[in-house]
Amino acid sequence: MSNQAEAGYVVSHGRSKAFYERFERKSELQHQTHFCPGCGHGTVHKMLAQAIDELGIQDRTIMIGPVGCGVFTYYYFDVGNVQAAHGRAPAVATAMKRSRPESIVISYQGDGDLSAIGSAEILHAANRGEHISVIFVNNAIYSMTGGQFAPTTLLGQKSTTTPLGRSAKAEGYPLHISELLATLQAPVYIERVGLGDNKQVAQAARAVRRAVENQVRGLGFSLVEILSPCPTIWKMTPVESQHWVRDVMEKTFPLGVFCDRTREAQAQTAPAAAPPLERIPEILGVVGAAEPEFSATQARTAEVDLEVRIAGFGGQGVLLLGEVLAEAGLDAGLEVSWLPSYGPEMRSGTSNCHVRLSSAPIDSPLVSAPNMLIAMNEPSLRKFDASVRPGGWIIYNGDEFPPECMRKDVHVLAHPFTHLADELGDARACNMTMLGALLEIAGAVPQASIDAALHRLVRNPRWVELDERALERGRAVCRESMVEEVTR
Ligand code: SF4
Repeated sequence: MSNQAEAGYVVSHGRSKAFYERFERKSELQHQTHFCPGCGHGTVHKMLAQAIDELGIQDRTIMIGPVGCGVFTYYYFDVGNVQAAHGRAPAVATAMKRSRPESIVISYQGDGDLSAIGSAEILHAANRGEHISVIFVNNAIYSMTGGQFAPTTLLGQKSTTTPLGRSAKAEGYPLHISELLATLQAPVYIERVGLGDNKQVAQAARAVRRAVENQVRGLGFSLVEILSPCPTIWKMTPVESQHWVRDVMEKTFPLGVFCDRTREAQAQTAPAAAPPLERIPEILGVVGAAEPEFSATQARTAEVDLEVRIAGFGGQGVLLLGEVLAEAGLDAGLEVSWLPSYGPEMRSGTSNCHVRLSSAPIDSPLVSAPNMLIAMNEPSLRKFDASVRPGGWIIYNGDEFPPECMRKDVHVLAHPFTHLADELGDARACNMTMLGALLEIAGAVPQASIDAALHRLVRNPRWVELDERALERGRAVCRESMVEEVTR
């Protein structure tokens, strides 16, 4: 027996059977995960996959992935997968385990998800002693959404929402989830481990396996908290971030076993399954109840009614374009909504936002049928062009429309806006050239409001000056193309 095996773990250099051979994500990225280099999630995934292999439970494992950088468990694990709403994984896991007691249900959650939005769900699932295993990846920050402070953020740690560092007075103290849950009577096993060095990683692998094995043995609720590096949001190298886990994070979150009742716990089956769905109306006494009638929504009339969808890759300034438009609308006294929407991937992600400007109150910030689409790249055009309302506009960042995207019932403006911005001095101003074109077409807000919004949002005088030129150049291109259209 090797030293590793004697120590209770074996390092595997192969691909676990619990992983798919290829990941069903973007075609060019099927051989790699979406995690950043040095991210702890990849390591934890590997531990989990190895535990599933070793315990021989692949065909009865159900993984619950809620929102966060770890959401894509379904891309990687060849097991049953369910994606849950933010923070709700323990509730979904409860339902899964109770309705399928023979399954092994694993709730995979980050700290923003589990300790903030989902704090009620985890507390009550633990207190009920649900027969589930929770893998809690704690990197002390909201990573997927760009680095806002989380309940687990360390005192003094900077985040986008605590730029001066977290202070106990303003934001409270870091929440110690493992210690908190260990005060409950029901959980059988709670341990905090880290990924700060190889020794810690080996211990983490053992803990992950134990949490899953406890469920296989029918023992009850288990949770492993894993202190995990997030080099991208911490703005560190992978090595620095690993050291930060060990040298800094661990001081706030000491490692160790906080609860271990596995010896005295009796193997039990999960609580009885809920009654079948078809019996629910009878139990509730609502058999034959009439469906409520909904009145038609009130027709909305407005002098300005701009529903814009802006779409592109992360880094193209999609959200800023929308923000400038929305801020300008506010400045002009209009009703406004701005709703960002971006994928969970930090690498090669897509980004889009919904902006509404209206003279009348806005019923919903969602723009599902825009009258103006700004497509900053071809995939965005292909994704959203069919959604544009007849009579609406599509402004496309490209030389010409792909023939299969040509529609006869909408107006189109195709131009290489990135080149335009490049000629002005920086390709990153492409978003403002496209905003210029939009303003020229829609005329919904005065230029003075746009200027005011730019100064408020951009601040850096060099960029403001470039953006103003980009706006004007975009307007001019739009005017020229309209003249061409008329004289053709
Ligand atoms: S942002 Fe952080 S947690 Fe998210 S994938 Fe990158 S390193 Fe991992």
